[in-house]
Amino acid sequence: MNLEEYRGVWVFIEQRNGKLVDVGLELLGAGRDLADKLEVDLCGVLLGHNIKDLSKDLFEYGADKVYVIDDPILEQYRSETYMVAVGDLVRKYKPEIFLYGATSNGKDLASAVATEVMTGLTADTTLLDVDLEKRLFEASRPAFGGNIMATILCKKHRPQMATVRPKVMKKRDREEGRVGELIEESISLQEESLRTKVLEIVRDTKKAVNLEDAVIIVSAGKGIKDEKGLQMVRELADVLNGTVGASRDIVEAGLIGHDHQVGQTGLTVTPKLYFAIGISGAVQHTVGMENSETIVAINNDPDAAIFNVAHHGVVADAFEIVPLLTEEFKKALQEEAKEGGVAHA
Ligand code: FAD
Repeated sequence: MNLEEYRGVWVFIEQRNGKLVDVGLELLGAGRDLADKLEVDLCGVLLGHNIKDLSKDLFEYGADKVYVIDDPILEQYRSETYMVAVGDLVRKYKPEIFLYGATSNGKDLASAVATEVMTGLTADTTLLDVDLEKRLFEASRPAFGGNIMATILCKKHRPQMATVRPKVMKKRDREEGRVGELIEESISLQEESLRTKVLEIVRDTKKAVNLEDAVIIVSAGKGIKDEKGLQMVRELADVLNGTVGASRDIVEAGLIGHDHQVGQTGLTVTPKLYFAIGISGAVQHTVGMENSETIVAINNDPDAAIFNVAHHGVVADAFEIVPLLTEEFKKALQEEAKEGGVAHA
């Protein structure tokens, strides 16, 4: 493999039902920095049906070029079609770095493309950089249970690929009117030859927990002990119009679903306000919430590690302080509403 032939930073742009998924725009932000350092183009890869117009947004968020394949066969995500489409583009245009969002589809596609074009893949990266001297992509991620950061290199194969979780990177400010080059390609597959067919899409009717977009998260840890303690946390979240988060220990205790879990094996969140109640602050939890704008920790152990990442710490028994806080917030918000102000926490 002649590594010198591979140039450019690519981002897989995920869309669902014709709407861009935010992580693609976040990765354009991170990809722009890498491309500028390497002095190469930043390119988006956009697949789907009736999606070409989305490329305008991609240019405004930093892409120099967008490779688009607009075909009914790509309307719904399927590993097979997307892998072939992306594999063909990689073989033809030879990017040196390729980023994907660590969503269900992004993770599925990245691993399929890695086997298709015989290259490596670093999953769930949290830091991206380049060694300019060696022209190597440095993809870093927590390793050994989150206790160290490992930087993973792909020295002999191209592209150098990584998945990045949503909310870890930041979107650039939109640059209205910024334009770029649109490159339209086609896919070599026919529907009849495919092994998988989408017969029906059944949406889960259960109200989805949307922790990643929550403005206020009130998270419970093992310190809340049981269902009664969790109810106390739910009441605080309700008053603040927030969403309930959790440490892994209470998810594993069966008190709450995994879709509430924050951390290394849960979600990465960046709310304006994060309450950590009865959470010790293990690194596997803090990697998922330490970039929150304001962190308030409540713990009865003054030496708990959570206080190292908290902006405000309360050393107290959660069972005493949380109901008081709920009551005070309720009163303050009612007062604000009475005075005709907009009630907000
Ligand atoms: P504990 O560590 O038991 O802490 C409970 C805290 O509550 C203590 O600090 C205690 O002082 C306090 N407390 C007790 N009673 C009260 C009270 N009455 N009032 C106030 N405070 C009280 N964890 C995650 O959260 N998310 C992850 O994604 C995750 N991924 C992991 C991945 C791997 C590979 C591994 C090895 C571990 C992972 N963990 C994860 C687990 C993590 O290491 C910790 O075990 C976990 O976060 C601890 O949860 P906790 O803080 O709720 O419980």
